[in-house]
Amino acid sequence: MTDDRRSADDRKFSDDLDELLSRANPNPGRIGCLSRDFLLALAARAQPIGDPGYEHLLQCSECYREFRRLQPARGDQ
Ligand SMILES: [Zn+2]
Repeated sequence: MTDDRRSADDRKFSDDLDELLSRANPNPGRIGCLSRDFLLALAARAQPIGDPGYEHLLQCSECYREFRRLQPARGDQ
């Protein structure tokens, strides 16, 4: 047994989660949305993980999708 299978499963899980979060919570009124600068700071991990901005990402697909766009590409492929 190696960790290869597990890391592939983790990646699948995170892709599924990604897909889910980018559609699960539409917020067309953009209520309580974060500024682009703030999303950039989150994407660059310039904010502590306990920052309430992350909670908003989990409740707002619009911000989540923008956050994912602003994140640097994962270099694992
Ligand atoms: Zn938002």
